[in-house]
Amino acid sequence: MVGRGPAAVPHIHQHDAVVVGAGGAGLYAALELKKDLGAESRVAVISKLYPTRSHTGAAQGGVCAALGNTEEDHWQWHWFDTVKGGDYLVDQDAAEIMCRDAAPTIIDLEHLGMPFNRTPEGLIDQRRFGGHTRNQGEAPVRRACYAADRTGHAILQTLYQQCIRREVTFADEFQVLDLVMPDGADGRVSGVIALELATSELHVFLAPVVLFATGGFGKIFQVTSNAHTLTGDGVAIAFRRGLALEDMEMFQFHPTGMYKLGFLLSEAMRGEGGFLVNGQGERFMERYAPTMKDLASRDVVSRSIYQEIAAGRGIGGGDFVHLDVRHLGADVLERKLPDMTGFIRTYFGLDPLHDLVPIQPTAHYAMGGIPTDVDARVLGDGIARRVPGFYAAGECACVSVHGANRLGTNSLLDILVFGRRAGKAMAGDAADLPAPARDLEAEARIAGTLADLLTSDRGERAAVVRDELQVEMFRRCGVYRTGPDLAACRSEVAGLRERARTVRLDDHGSRYNTDLADAIELGFLLDCAEAAVTSAEARTESRGAHARQDFPDRDDVNWMRHSLARRSASGKVDLTYKPVVVTEFQPKPRVY
Ligand SMILES: Cc1cc2nc3c(=O)[nH]c(=O)nc-3n(C[C@H](O)[C@H](O)[C@H](O)COP(=O)(O)OP(=O)(O)OC[C@H]3O[C@@H](n4cnc5c(N)ncnc54)[C@H](O)[C@@H]3O)c2cc1C
Repeated sequence: MVGRGPAAVPHIHQHDAVVVGAGGAGLYAALELKKDLGAESRVAVISKLYPTRSHTGAAQGGVCAALGNTEEDHWQWHWFDTVKGGDYLVDQDAAEIMCRDAAPTIIDLEHLGMPFNRTPEGLIDQRRFGGHTRNQGEAPVRRACYAADRTGHAILQTLYQQCIRREVTFADEFQVLDLVMPDGADGRVSGVIALELATSELHVFLAPVVLFATGGFGKIFQVTSNAHTLTGDGVAIAFRRGLALEDMEMFQFHPTGMYKLGFLLSEAMRGEGGFLVNGQGERFMERYAPTMKDLASRDVVSRSIYQEIAAGRGIGGGDFVHLDVRHLGADVLERKLPDMTGFIRTYFGLDPLHDLVPIQPTAHYAMGGIPTDVDARVLGDGIARRVPGFYAAGECACVSVHGANRLGTNSLLDILVFGRRAGKAMAGDAADLPAPARDLEAEARIAGTLADLLTSDRGERAAVVRDELQVEMFRRCGVYRTGPDLAACRSEVAGLRERARTVRLDDHGSRYNTDLADAIELGFLLDCAEAAVTSAEARTESRGAHARQDFPDRDDVNWMRHSLARRSASGKVDLTYKPVVVTEFQPKPRVY
């Protein structure tokens, strides 16, 4: 049956604030907006997923704050670890805010009902995580607050319930396709244009303030811990509108993905005492990181695994190593890591109490994204020019608190701290912004694109092009990179973009058309990949997650700067740079 397709006249909705994304960042912002704008205010959260399916709900190991509940700790130690973890590409003023605000934010979350694990004295319990140390690197410190290995699930449920209580309006299963920019490319944002997935009808949500909290884009890679839905929609939409994207080459590969599947086995397994072994049964991390060993930062551990494999010391000479958690015992595995234990049993048919677990690095987290100031206000040129009415927070944004490599548990902290700050800033700014206006040009363009897609019966299926993109990005823009590989990858991505201009839909209906969603999301993935590979090719140094085999050293003289990628009017990706904010910690060699 041929569907009706998008309605010629979109449905129009007026709100005081619109939040796109119902993960931790979006929900905390919505709560703050409701608090500050008052109970009568109209705050809408738009989400392409049912809110509690957001990827925040998949977060496992913890959220950090220097509470010092189980051993001495200070936010300044956390601040240093974050800057060092990010290989000095972190903006230190932003990281200071995050680490300082961590404790009050966790306490606020606790008061909202978050069910943290407890110490025998009833305090929030804390566990170890990679790169978190006492006194600038002396030894690992217990800084991650957690709810078993379902920390993100507990956060998401807590925030969602509070949003329901405060009568936040939810538009579930609406996919945002564009921004409303009534004054053209350099102007303000006053809403979004969204597709209702149940009907394929278009809706325009108008508001003086709009937050993107749309999460990451790990699906540009073949092996990834990310959910299928993490296709970088918000990041790509900003890019298409000519706005800058920051540090897109900085993508984290988590050391312990399940071999071949990519599903994540939380770093908490090493935090609780697990370790990696190679094909010769050696605890090889002792050689690469004598102090922190298996709890070195993720980029260091992922590279070490690849080096073992390259030296023929993978398991049976193959392309994986083992995670050993057998000694943790049934109590720790069943009580503190129940989901991980269940995953290993279900997906591998192995019992972590008795068996070694095969792992390989998996694409995990986007350090880069939409550049913002410390109050989530989007910087259109990446440097100073604010886009009135437009905000971004969470994994889609780049403040930048993670620099070239994020520490485990710092993302959940980032989404909470900067989600909240976004809500506050939006509530404060809203009254001073002009009344929202429609963007008829964008409405017509989006309606045209959808109509074309819905009737398209030529070309390849979107999934075919997507699979090729993912394989290419994982192979040539992965843990290790070289100039020639990146150049080849960039031209491959350009070719895939051409092929994606005409993709065939098998389903031409208008109800929950997943073929249509695949085609739309393929476009977003290609934009993110192009920005990432272009930025990676230009950065001729190795820093954090960006490891160039042809430029193995960090180059502070030329590269202590953030990459800014923008799509020019001609369609080319232009790169410019801005300095890193250094307030306290001068760059030093990074040893763990
Ligand atoms: C398996 C896994 C485990 C992790 N464990 C940890 C951990 O223990 N500690 C830690 O600190 N970090 C962890 N992380 C990272 C962390 O969970 C994420 O970075 C963080 O949750 C991102 O939150 P967010 O609010 O930015 O976005 P998400 O939670 O990803 O939510 C994105 C939202 O945007 C919506 N959306 C996207 N595009 C559109 C669109 N076009 N229109 C409408 N809505 C849209 C989605 O529906 C969704 O609601 C983990 C990540 C993974 C994948």
